Amino acid sequence: MICRYCGTDIADKALICYKCGNATTEARIVPPSRSHKKRRQVTVVVVVAIIVLLLLLAWRLGFVR
Ligand SMILES: [Zn+2]
Repeated sequence: MICRYCGTDIADKALICYKCGNATTEARIVPPSRSHKKRRQVTVVVVVAIIVLLLLLAWRLGFVR
């Protein structure tokens, strides 16, 4: 087969291109949908953390001088 990343002709059974090191098969190990879900969870955590920090800041500015 031919590596889709660098175009090198590699063995059909090869899992990784010997030249560029990229996996020859589709990302079956880490499905795209799963990684998207994980990324979304991280985004939610970051947004919640920012909201909590803003609330804490507002509380401190409002009640503690
Ligand atoms: Zn390659």
